[in-house]
Amino acid sequence: MIPGDGIGPAITAATVRLLAASGANIEWDSRDAGLAGVARCGDPIPEATLDSIKRTRLALKGPLETPLGSGYRSVTVALRQTFDLFANVRPALSILPQGRYPHLDLVLIRENTEGLYSGIEHYVRVGDDPHAAAESIAIITRAGSERITRFAFEYAVKHGRAKVTLVHKANILKYSQGLFLDTGRMVAREYAGRIEFEERIVDATAMNLVLRPERFDVIVTTNLFGDILSDQISGLVGGLGLAPGANIGERGAIFEAVHGTAPDIAGKGTANPAALMLAACMLLEHIGDDARAGRIRTAIERTIRAGLSVTPDLGGSATTDGFTDAIIAAL
Ligand code: NAD
Repeated sequence: MIPGDGIGPAITAATVRLLAASGANIEWDSRDAGLAGVARCGDPIPEATLDSIKRTRLALKGPLETPLGSGYRSVTVALRQTFDLFANVRPALSILPQGRYPHLDLVLIRENTEGLYSGIEHYVRVGDDPHAAAESIAIITRAGSERITRFAFEYAVKHGRAKVTLVHKANILKYSQGLFLDTGRMVAREYAGRIEFEERIVDATAMNLVLRPERFDVIVTTNLFGDILSDQISGLVGGLGLAPGANIGERGAIFEAVHGTAPDIAGKGTANPAALMLAACMLLEHIGDDARAGRIRTAIERTIRAGLSVTPDLGGSATTDGFTDAIIAAL
């Protein structure tokens, strides 16, 4: 458990209380990172935190602030890289009753380690201008494409989903995106008759996600497209306040809320803990406790739809603790 910075400790405490009330058999090993890591251990990613995740291969993580001058672009991204958490899983489920799309239930699976975010960038000097041009290189590997598309199909099988849509731009980026598409087609053949497969170009997907999002089920795509489309699907169901995310690899899994440390409301007792609670439900499913995850998710949904004891960002006036009490009562 990494409580995190800003509103992190408040929403993780609420989540731990909810999981305890649900009877989940989890022993938490609380560790620091981010600003709290620097304050208590002099390191934004303390060795003890890494050791804990290596041992348990599982973490529930509050949002982290990356200290300036720490040498990291993002502590959260560094944690994903350390454990090679190649699959970023972002479900979008309609919970808010007044939402634009009341019946959405889709999942985006983003490749987390390759593509245009491989970190290979440089300037090109022309004449006396050292920054006359810049190059960013997208690396796509067959192995990386195979493991993420296979992950998407296995996710679909495990969660009883019907279709995987592979999103690409192979019509223009014939080599890198072409390799991703070819590899995805090969993996899809192994699931023929069990999971439907379709391929779509990213720009058309962006439009169709707005026009007819109900036609999507599981989407799998490369790093940059996944980054953009995952925020888009969060927007379809009411924004980042209710968006959980999981980062999963062979050596571990980290579950988190998609939102940040919310410095503007930190310490006020009004942070909405629901996104982290939904991330904890994903953690429970990851360890095979699907029934409990389902019960907790239903309690969260009912409490939000009832609208009586919700936090200010959801239109109510409840505190973090009051909202949590209402969810526990619904449970
Ligand atoms: P943010 O998500 O923290 O806040 C954006 C807005 O949403 C704010 O008005 C905030 O009050 C509100 N908000 C966010 N979560 C909320 C919640 N649970 N309940 C109620 N309101 C909520 O984004 P930001 O302001 O761009 O970033 C703040 C800090 O968080 C930065 O240091 C950033 O680097 C960090 N961050 C961390 C992560 C992570 O650890 N995964 C993700 C994003 C941002």
